[in-house]
Amino acid sequence: MDDISRRAFLVTGLGALVSGCADKMRDPLFIEPSNTANRLTGRASGSHTPGLGPSSRIVRPRSAVSAPPIIARSAWADGAPIASRMDPMNGINAVTVHHEGMPYSVYCTAKRDVIRELRTVRTSHIGRMRAGDIGYHFIIDRAGRIWEGRPLRFQGAHVKDCNYHNIGVMVMGNFELQYPSKQQEATLTKVLGHLMARYRIPIRAVYPHRELGPTACPGRYLQPYVDAFRRKT
Ligand SMILES: [Zn+2]
Repeated sequence: MDDISRRAFLVTGLGALVSGCADKMRDPLFIEPSNTANRLTGRASGSHTPGLGPSSRIVRPRSAVSAPPIIARSAWADGAPIASRMDPMNGINAVTVHHEGMPYSVYCTAKRDVIRELRTVRTSHIGRMRAGDIGYHFIIDRAGRIWEGRPLRFQGAHVKDCNYHNIGVMVMGNFELQYPSKQQEATLTKVLGHLMARYRIPIRAVYPHRELGPTACPGRYLQPYVDAFRRKT
């Protein structure tokens, strides 16, 4: 969920329990080399971080885990990413799970309705947050489909001050108000499993948003699922 709607769920005092994400998220485990096709999106990745020498670019073997199907950004987005408002991702070492967190429940499954909802979120992020695109890299709709959000070559805008090398996965709905669908839970398992394998992300770097900032995100009804996933992975 974005920073503005997050305030509605601000939990007083929780921030004191959350250690700085800079400590958690340094030590990149995987810096993707330039000009390498991204398996999940089929697109070329961005260039490597300026200032990071070759010794910092640790390339590990590609995983044999197959990529789940994904609906391309071009199928829904009503505008191009605004590159001037975004930084390059420059490697990936974490993934953060969010809910959509709009102040209403979302039960739509028809593609046209999902597209409308995605556009609403994107418009909100571009307008209110001055973001360059929707803040998340992947979105899981109520039917369990995966939609490409912000291209992975760009750093996301989904966790305040903790977006570096951090993939944002949003599950559509407000899980303070509703339960995730079985299809969403099943797809989230696939997405997290694939991203962990593809980018060598350790389980300790799979975060629910609430562990990186004072927020209820990804919601009381999705958080137990994230906890269970981490216990059994
Ligand atoms: Zn969030």
